[in-house]
Amino acid sequence: MVVFVAEFRINISNLSEGIHEYAFEAGPSKIGLDERFRSVVKVKVRLDKSLHQILLQAKMWAEGAFVCDRCLDNFIWQMDKKYSMVYIQGDRSTLDLKKEEEIQVLSADTNYIDLDEDVRQYILLAVPQKLLCREDCLGICPTCGVNRNNESCSCDAHVTDSRWDVLKKLSHN
Ligand SMILES: [Zn+2]
Ligand SMILES: [Zn+2]
Repeated sequence: MVVFVAEFRINISNLSEGIHEYAFEAGPSKIGLDERFRSVVKVKVRLDKSLHQILLQAKMWAEGAFVCDRCLDNFIWQMDKKYSMVYIQGDRSTLDLKKEEEIQVLSADTNYIDLDEDVRQYILLAVPQKLLCREDCLGICPTCGVNRNNESCSCDAHVTDSRWDVLKKLSHN
């Protein structure tokens, strides 16, 4: 029988109250990220345990090889991002929670908290909707198809010329 064990897993069964710190690294496929993610995913975790709750603060680093939506070139995307989570055991009504904090309820016999799924989700959420190799990517010329970041073509010049012609005509009328 194969038992799945999370890569980013913290044993909380005998955790004393106070601050605990951890550092993890795992291959992206180990936490379910697709093949665009290539280098190891790193996570640093700080746990603050009190009587009924554990406050987790995590910082993540990931890197992916993406294709630019505008010029179709490959580029490396680097991410570092933080998230926090409150794990509670027992009755949440007694807890002092800020509204913006994410909450997960743990059953009384839980010995581990697994971060794989949360880390994966937060990384995927951080991937921009529009993937650009750089903010001012010039894209591909719709007329001749060259990558305008690497070479210039004469198509632009024609467009500019015709615009000037219109202006010239207007000014002569
Ligand atoms: Zn681009
Ligand atoms: Zn062109």
